[in-house]
Amino acid sequence: MSLASGQPMTSELLDTFDRPLRSLRLSVTDRCNLRCQYCMPEEEYAWLPRDTLLTFEEINVLVSIFAEFGVDRIRLTGGEPLLRRDLPTLIRMIGQHARIQDIALTTNGILLNEQAQALFDAGLHRVTVSLDTLKPDRFKTLTRRETFDRVLEGIAIVEKVGFTGLKIDTVAIKGFNDDELVALIEYGKSVNAEVRFIEYMDVGGANDWSLTKVLSRAEILLQLRQTYGPIEPLIENSSAPAQRFLLSDGTTFGIIPSTTTPFCATCDRSRLTADGFWYLCLYAKQGIDLREPLRLKDLEEVRSRIRSGWGSRTDRGAEDRKNLEQSSMRGRFIEIEKLRQDPRLEMHARGG
Ligand code: SAM
Ligand code: SF4
Ligand code: SF4
Repeated sequence: MSLASGQPMTSELLDTFDRPLRSLRLSVTDRCNLRCQYCMPEEEYAWLPRDTLLTFEEINVLVSIFAEFGVDRIRLTGGEPLLRRDLPTLIRMIGQHARIQDIALTTNGILLNEQAQALFDAGLHRVTVSLDTLKPDRFKTLTRRETFDRVLEGIAIVEKVGFTGLKIDTVAIKGFNDDELVALIEYGKSVNAEVRFIEYMDVGGANDWSLTKVLSRAEILLQLRQTYGPIEPLIENSSAPAQRFLLSDGTTFGIIPSTTTPFCATCDRSRLTADGFWYLCLYAKQGIDLREPLRLKDLEEVRSRIRSGWGSRTDRGAEDRKNLEQSSMRGRFIEIEKLRQDPRLEMHARGG
């Protein structure tokens, strides 16, 4: 499938709150080699049927159309994106689009040791590794796998193959890893990575979620001040989800306060599942089918669905969830039965 050449850039798309469409998170698989309790608490899921998964060529066509509408940042995610065979080939294809300025990867790190060099050579710009604990026994309890050492090996190799700007993402959970914040920052320093603490979210199958387990931005800062003293917020003009802070020794770190201080007002992100459904919000219950017109080779219909989808976007999912707290209505986001019927409702299908 090829695109008509020399197409003019469609004017930048704005949603109903004047938010542009800039960042696309591409989930390349719904499979994962971990079972993090906050993301995939069960062992088996209703997996996306194999023949519905987009090929690299199909993904690349969609990227090219999204770029016409203003997307300039791509993040490869999953499931575990490094389980998708030959990912460097996709990175090379995406890298051909002049409008795509940034190609990043979020991974659990297990397969980085063997793939980092090929990813770098293919033109991947940045790597984020998710790591929630530095204690092997905790890692095993959280992920139900014994691959902790491989994650550390993966992190260690990132800089060696040439990447800069490594990030480590940690979901901060009360009563689980709230005693490791300082250790994680120190570990980040030792591997030249910026650590970002993510507030625990109630998306998808995070069925163990409760507000009492959320370690808030305020609590994270309070705790870190006890060790590091004054912490300065960095003033940045960015739509990035992380708010960044500076310690007095020059170390920076981030907090992604999705649960207590949602940043929906500036959200320019959307998500594409591995089977070609486009979600306008992490909390969206329904996606827009782009696979159908794509496979019918009706690219004008793909464009039309993107244009009308983003143009009528009203999503402010994390804010809506937060507003429910006032009336004590913040219960389970989606009933388990519904999750079983629609695998795309899961965090691991829509890419986090
Ligand atoms: N498997 C890859 C990984 O773990 O990095 C990529 C996919 S994962 C769904 C993307 C990110 O979502 C990870 O950093 C993970 O920690 C985060 N995540 C998953 N469930 C979450 C939850 N309930 N609350 C906050 N972050 C979550
Ligand atoms: Fe954990 Fe990422 Fe796998 Fe979810 S997709 S279970 S966060 S490694
Ligand atoms: Fe964007 Fe939805 Fe997340 Fe808000 S909840 S920041 S609108 S993806």
